[in-house]
Amino acid sequence: MYEHYFDNAATTKVREEAIEAANYAMHTCYGNASSLHRAGMDAENLITQARRKAAKALHCLVDEVYFTSGATESNNLAISGAVRRSRGKAVVTTQIEHPAVKNPIDHLEAKGYTIKRIPIGEDGKFHPEDFANAVDEDTALVSCMWVNNETGLILPVEQIAAAVKLKNPNVFVHVDGVQGFCKLKMPSLKQIDFFSFSGHKIYAPKGIGGFYLRKSVSIQPLVLGGGHEKGLRSGTESVPLISALGMAIELTDSDKEKNLEKYRKMQINLSEKLSEIPGVILHKKWECAPYILNFSVPDVRSEILLHHLESYGFYVSSGSACSKGLPSEVLPSLGVTKKQADSVLRVSFGIYNSVEEIAPFVEALKEGLQRYGKRSHSNKGRGNRP
Ligand code: PLP
Repeated sequence: MYEHYFDNAATTKVREEAIEAANYAMHTCYGNASSLHRAGMDAENLITQARRKAAKALHCLVDEVYFTSGATESNNLAISGAVRRSRGKAVVTTQIEHPAVKNPIDHLEAKGYTIKRIPIGEDGKFHPEDFANAVDEDTALVSCMWVNNETGLILPVEQIAAAVKLKNPNVFVHVDGVQGFCKLKMPSLKQIDFFSFSGHKIYAPKGIGGFYLRKSVSIQPLVLGGGHEKGLRSGTESVPLISALGMAIELTDSDKEKNLEKYRKMQINLSEKLSEIPGVILHKKWECAPYILNFSVPDVRSEILLHHLESYGFYVSSGSACSKGLPSEVLPSLGVTKKQADSVLRVSFGIYNSVEEIAPFVEALKEGLQRYGKRSHSNKGRGNRP
């Protein structure tokens, strides 16, 4: 059976060129990048090339790029590193963050920090002035995502950062850029201090990611050791993973306009077809990235349809891959009712998808609705995905 992978917000298939880059590093440049001999220098050169590629995509300086194990680590470093450098005891964030931001911030709350969680406005937008109004002299950090992983909702991070810095230039601004990096036009990092990204959302392997940190800003590391990554992230660098990431960034970023065009067509096509199915509700009333579409179906629980679609070779998600069986905490904040959230599906496109996959997908979905509709099933099964 032909596979149609529509779960690219959860993770992506590693691209061949990234696999080759990793292979090359493992076969040819196997030295420790800290070693002074030739094998070490070869490995270090590969890291430098990857750093240059990341800097080009981020529009920042090469020495403002750092590599980590992924965005969860980058986000944790940003959040704990920022609050430890400041005397402030307040943090501003949103109600719709990924657990890799939400949980470290909840942890700060448990330690006594004041947390202000900005809701979406009644007009379906996040307003920079709401963030600025929430900031005061005691604010150490503002942390928010660029693109919401469950719905594709885009936040105006550039404007949020500018408004926050105008109110208090000492506040550290962190953006979780995972779901937009190399997919949408980069926001200016002029007022953003820290920007996290992850490799496995952009066709690099899992277990590698990184961040941008503004050159003039210093934060405290989480991991202490041999002083790698200018002391911010100790541990011998994974040259194969870093090389693969560099390759994936370069290729994915240079094709992003072309791919965006394709995703727009796919999303329009899918939205039109879904709107013709009675009872389907598209959760798309906000400004959304064209590669994520979240919708609710009538009377069938998400995972039942998810497995039905899987039997036809279509992989989708029932929300976010990190929530494994738990109801989404994000969707209610965006006005999605509990009943709608129980029957939500997330479709997320990637570079290997094409518009030709939409019609058979909708046919398989309709068949599932006919087969399982009205007979509501219990919420067993494997549950939600990243
Ligand atoms: N932030 C967002 C918005 C995400 O979607 C994800 C992954 O699902 C992460 C952070 C965590 O990234 P990683 O898997 O690289 O730790």
